[in-house]
Amino acid sequence: MKSSSVAVFGLVMTGTLLLTACGTAPMPVPTVTKTASATPSPTPTPTPTPTPPPAPVYNIDDPGSITVVANKHRPLNPLSYEAGDMVVPGVVGNPNGRLLRAEAAAALERMGTDAANAGIWMTILSGYRSYATQEQTYNGFVARDGEERANQYSAKPGHSEHQTGLAVDLDDGSGCALYTCFADTAAGQWLAANAWQYGFVLRYPDGYIGITGYEFEPWHFRYVGTEVSTAMHNSGIVTLEEFFGLEPAPTY
Ligand SMILES: [Zn+2]
Repeated sequence: MKSSSVAVFGLVMTGTLLLTACGTAPMPVPTVTKTASATPSPTPTPTPTPTPPPAPVYNIDDPGSITVVANKHRPLNPLSYEAGDMVVPGVVGNPNGRLLRAEAAAALERMGTDAANAGIWMTILSGYRSYATQEQTYNGFVARDGEERANQYSAKPGHSEHQTGLAVDLDDGSGCALYTCFADTAAGQWLAANAWQYGFVLRYPDGYIGITGYEFEPWHFRYVGTEVSTAMHNSGIVTLEEFFGLEPAPTY
């Protein structure tokens, strides 16, 4: 049984230190030594040891946690998990009424508003997908391309971030929907540069299939909250696997 939470040390301490530098994390509380008594003590006063700020603790196992990590080694538990608190995000285009969890939807709306103000238009291709929908999608890809090939771009049901209601596929209507050329579009570039400010990470970056298990998906953004997205941005760590100190998950 894996633990239900993970304390992040080492790499993430970088994030902690950066947060401290920004003044957003609690400052270390130094241990206070007792005031010297009137009678000198024969033993020397111990040197005060500063207490480091606590390492952030993230729940990466609970499928309802915004920091849950799902990959080929980490199925959702339960496999048929159904996300709650789903809403239809507005602001961005959403012709098919795709759903996201409320917190992710609100963040997407903030991102869409700022993008629109920057002249960037975007629309949702895919948001929440149930176990049953993912099963249908995945089986369709396996029938078309074979299982080995399908596994490089589609998740087995119970292993997809879309099943958490925290992942969204975006497009700008320029003809690159679900193609890597989306990275070169104005929307793709704006998202790659700015999504972290709204709590989203580009979940499957170029060249990391050996870690994430998936090819480059410049359209797929995962909501993790601004604490993690900012720490990743500041540290230069681009995969959740590396950020949380997890093993690479290239295959099932
Ligand atoms: Zn996706």
